[in-house]
Formats: sequence, structure tokens, C-alpha cells
Amino acid sequence: MYIGMIDVELISRKHHNFPNLALMKLSGYYKALGHKVKLISFEELSPSALFQSKYDKVFVSKVFTDSHIPKFILKLPFVEYGGSGFFYEKGQKEPEYSKTPRLPDEIEHHFPDYHLYDEWIKNEIRFKRRQRKYFKNYLDYSIGFTTRGCFRQCSFCFNRGVKTVTLHSPLSEFVDEKRKKIILLDDNVFGSGKYWEIIFKQLQETKKPFCYNQGLDIRLLTEKKAKILSESKYDGDYIFAFDNYEDKEIIEEKIKLFKKYMPNKIPKFYIFCAFDKNNKYDDKFWENDLVEIFERLNILMKYECLPYIMKFEKWRKSPFPSFYMALSGWCNVPAIFKKMSFMQASKNNKSLLRFKMNFPNIIKKYFHLKYGLIKIKL
Ligand code: SF4
Repeated sequence: MYIGMIDVELISRKHHNFPNLALMKLSGYYKALGHKVKLISFEELSPSALFQSKYDKVFVSKVFTDSHIPKFILKLPFVEYGGSGFFYEKGQKEPEYSKTPRLPDEIEHHFPDYHLYDEWIKNEIRFKRRQRKYFKNYLDYSIGFTTRGCFRQCSFCFNRGVKTVTLHSPLSEFVDEKRKKIILLDDNVFGSGKYWEIIFKQLQETKKPFCYNQGLDIRLLTEKKAKILSESKYDGDYIFAFDNYEDKEIIEEKIKLFKKYMPNKIPKFYIFCAFDKNNKYDDKFWENDLVEIFERLNILMKYECLPYIMKFEKWRKSPFPSFYMALSGWCNVPAIFKKMSFMQASKNNKSLLRFKMNFPNIIKKYFHLKYGLIKIKL
């Protein structure tokens, strides 16, 4: 067969630069059976010059709900589609992992085809649209899941219907010896009981730098985990989440533990916001959401940690969407966040005037907070 692969993120997002692991596994599987596989480019997706005559089968995959693919493609008889971006539980706005159809085991556990994107990358570089470093995730990394799932069941999370962390792939299933580094996509490797330690040991034995790019659960950090983490060849930023303000005590305690073993490292924390677990989204909620964002930022600033604002899609419905935009613009650019208070970073933002009139107390209490201004002695 001649098989086409459509990576929806790639064709619909301008700055997307992360490969689709499911498509790479499908490609690896079908190539091993002797079929021809090709990544389909954006230019090929026109109803008039459609690929029907060329492809016997087309697989479409997307990770994010807001990545777009023309609907007519999904209706074609030779097209199969899947991925977290497609599937919804009834009445649910976001897809859920436990409801999402899986790849058959023989494909899910097949070695990924790390050459699926080669031709596209070659053309991008040849026509000087991008430089090689833009493609590092495609060229330098082995990618996989050592575990899957999470036990916490956060109501906003794709994993909310899952109750445990389970072992998923041994490293031999996806680590390519020729690739310098490893990216792990696990949801919560620290929640895997005794397995995290075995996995970290095996990762160390590869002698390749590695990172868990979905973040690690700092609430589960122990002396042993912090020590092993500090001795690991960890690649890039240590990423954690500070999703709930109610976790402030445990997060502070664990930041101290992290800094005890890695005093010179600056961990990054996702700050999830604009999600009302009571589904009210009234004025009280929006005001409180902003207060809780600033309270979390205040804690991170004191310990010289960096935030990354993650907005739930409802932020657009807030009475102050421009405020959320301004917050991301400040927090998500470390060079700005480290140097300026929110007041300094947003002084030219006229749309904040109305906010200032309505919430003088928030302004007074939080707008002058600054990274590194108050240092906690550890
Ligand atoms: S801890 Fe993270 S991965 Fe686990 S359910 Fe909550 S948001 Fe999802």
C-alpha cells in the first residue's frame, strides 16, 4: 500500500515543532511490513487535487483540540483518524484519555519511524524557511512514554478518568542509539510507585541527557527523588506544575527540598488558570482566579522559580481577557519576568485601565511584586 500521514498540528499551526509519536509508530509499523509511507504536506490538502488516486490509506492524528483539519478529509473512506485532539466524552468539552481509542498493541509498542519527517525538514532547510536547530525535536531526540496515566484525577485534565500510573514502554522500544537525547512524555512518572527509580536508573545507563517534558509532580518529591534528579543527566528545564493554589504549603515545602539538592537550578512551574471547577464563571470566580494567580506567582518569585501561565480556554470569556493576555506576556517570557514587575511590564497597556479602576486592591497588593525582590533564605 501507499500510505499517507497527516500531522494536523504541523499543517495547522505555524510554529509547531514537535513530532507526532502515534504517526511515527504507525509509519514504523507499516514500513516494516513493506508498505510505502509519506508525510502529507499542507499543499496536498485541497479538495480538487486530493490524494485519493495516490494513497491507499491515510492516517490523520492530532494532539490538541484546537488544531484544525478540513472536515471533508475525515469523511473520506480511506481515511482513519485518532489522537487526543479528536475524542470527546458526551457533554464534555475536552477529550478524555480513558475514552480515546488506542492504537492496537502491535503498533503502540512498535519502534517509531524517526525518518517520517525527513523530507519535510530537508525542504524547510533547503528553501531557507527554517534553520536546523528549529527541528531538534525531530532530529536529536528519541521520544516515548515510560509510563502512562496519573492517579490524581484533576477535573481539567485529559487523564481525569484514569486512576493509576502504569508502565508503558521499556526504553528499548523507542530509544534510538544514534540520537543524542531522550524526551519522555509521561504524565506522572513519580506517581508510578517503585518504578520511577528503576526507570531513572535505566535512563542514566543510556548516558544520554533526558527530560520529562510534560513536567514532574513536585508534590511527590522526596529526599531520594531530589538526590537522584540532581545526579541525573537532566536535559533542559525542570518543569513542574502549581495548578491549585490550595497546594501552596506542599509546593513551598517541595521547592525548598528541590533547592537543597539543586540550589543553582531555576525550576519552572505551570500556572493553570481560568478554570472554574464549580463551572460558574461568575465575577467572584474571575476576581479570585486573578488573586490566586498572583499568590502563586508571589511564592515562585520568593524562591526564584519561573512561572508559565497556562490558560484554560474559558479565559476569553473573562470580563478582562486582555488582562490574561498581559499576564502571559509577562510571565511566559523569563527575560521580562525576571527584570520587571507586572506594573512595569504592562505600563503601556491601555486596556488595563478599566481593570485598575475595578480592582484597586489587587493592583496595590500585587502589581509591584518582583522576581528576586524578596529572597527566602533556604
Ligand atoms: S497531576 Fe497532572 S497529569 Fe495528573 S491528573 Fe492532574 S493535571 Fe493530569
